[in-house]
Amino acid sequence: MIPKGVWVLGKYWTVEAKVGFYRNEECFGDTIHPQLRIRVDSEMSLQQTRDTLLHEIIHAIEKELGLTMSEKTVKQLSTTLLAVLRGNPSLMTFLLSEAEDNADATTSP
Ligand SMILES: [Zn+2]
Repeated sequence: MIPKGVWVLGKYWTVEAKVGFYRNEECFGDTIHPQLRIRVDSEMSLQQTRDTLLHEIIHAIEKELGLTMSEKTVKQLSTTLLAVLRGNPSLMTFLLSEAEDNADATTSP
């Protein structure tokens, strides 16, 4: 199930799955910065939906930070990051861990 929204740098972006959004091989979704909206086509495979959502989140980050990235760079980043994250579930557990950096300090020799 696609999330209804995502937090990007302290701002909540709504995520909408939109019927018939797909227009060509270059457009599976978009971001509307002033409205903090991400739209993705609702009729894609789950794999393509994940890639597209991450792609649009990277565009949201790009806009929030005032970066200028080529479409090719955004595509490469989203596809690669998704593959790394999905290929390493323990990495996500580690990255999302609530443990403090110095949690082991009391057990050090
Ligand atoms: Zn794009």
